Amino acid sequence: MPDVKYLSLNGKVVPTADARIHILSPAVKYGTNVFEGIRGYWNNEEKQLYIFRLTEHLLRLQFSMKVMRFGESYTVEHLRDCIMELIKANDLREDTYIRLFAYVDDLDGEMTASGTIGMAIAATPKGRRAKAHDGVNVAVSSWQRISDNSMPPRIKCVANYNNGRLAWMQAKQDGYDNVILLTQRGTVAEGPGACLFIVRDGVPTTSTVASDILESITRATVMQIFREYSDLETVQRDIGRTELYAAQEAFYCGTGHEILPIVSIDRHSLGDGKVGALTEMLRQKYQQLVRGEIADHAEWRTPVYGSS
Ligand code: PMP
Repeated sequence: MPDVKYLSLNGKVVPTADARIHILSPAVKYGTNVFEGIRGYWNNEEKQLYIFRLTEHLLRLQFSMKVMRFGESYTVEHLRDCIMELIKANDLREDTYIRLFAYVDDLDGEMTASGTIGMAIAATPKGRRAKAHDGVNVAVSSWQRISDNSMPPRIKCVANYNNGRLAWMQAKQDGYDNVILLTQRGTVAEGPGACLFIVRDGVPTTSTVASDILESITRATVMQIFREYSDLETVQRDIGRTELYAAQEAFYCGTGHEILPIVSIDRHSLGDGKVGALTEMLRQKYQQLVRGEIADHAEWRTPVYGSS
């Protein structure tokens, strides 16, 4: 059970143990359940919790609900209010991970049921990933990425994550930290829970949004950081498998992973086998921005405390 007193269920703050859904809801039977993962960063100097790119996450949740043909939706304002209320109820004053679900909760509903829609939120303390400092060793998976015409990776449907789970668990069995999935065309897609960038001859490069990836908010943030702070334009294009081995640097990016350097792929070392210079610059800048340690891009940070 998460280490918080309260969760939010259908717009109400409830004791953690009471946030339940029925085993026969379509959310359980068919995985008719979409979600968002959002981070809040504690700024100790300002005694403020900043939620990073909240509106973008909430708009993406709405998009996931639309693609899954949910019969009801929520306004961004309502979702934002529920998140704020929950964080304040738990008095979270540290780095926080917010998981927000919307699901079909029609008791024993059939596969095509599109209502009643339920909504649940968990906001729990979350620190940085242990491996983040040294980078990770990853494999290219023999499992293929799901495709836009089967289970669209562009939305965050929980059922999609079984694709990443198969790939990641295989990679762990084989002694790797993480994994990269290829599209059915054999080009690079993404990781199980993060997008991927490589740096080739100084050029940051990432797969296009038509490469069976989630349209990652961090990916967009990274491209903006490269443009604004390093004068580097990211190239979005198909990436071939062996280009991964030719890269001098590579990293995952995502809300949960933040900027996670990759130091080897299929046991090929990248660059000198250490975290690359551009990746290191990016990681620092990202941390400063999400935490509000620099004033730039205040529009990306929603303060929790002192707001109504
Ligand atoms: N791809 C997948 C499959 C993910 O689950 C995530 C995490 N949400 C990402 C990419 C990164 O997306 P974002 O930067 O919006 O968190």
